[in-house]
Amino acid sequence: MLIFTCPCCGERADETELSPGGEAHIERQSVESSDEAFEGYLFIRENPRGVHFERWRHAYGCGKWFNAARCTVTLEVFGTYPAQTMRPPQDLLDHISQRRPGWTWRDLA
Ligand SMILES: [Zn+2]
Repeated sequence: MLIFTCPCCGERADETELSPGGEAHIERQSVESSDEAFEGYLFIRENPRGVHFERWRHAYGCGKWFNAARCTVTLEVFGTYPAQTMRPPQDLLDHISQRRPGWTWRDLA
């Protein structure tokens, strides 16, 4: 079972108290974007075997959205952080790199 600490209210919540929101850090596209870029924004998602960044909502708690980093294989939760960030906090990325040597954060264009 997944257990996250909500970065908004500080409560620990298991997945029954949360609603999943899909992949985090999807770059929005404007109306001037190419068809390929807009297709990617709407439909293309990562499905990694390992470290993944996701959006979750503390539905039966404070009701706010947050992001979480976890491993899709072991369900290890690396950390959570506010949804209003463009990229994960550096201390979280460093923590993941310690736990998963060789892992790197993707480049955001
Ligand atoms: Zn909360």
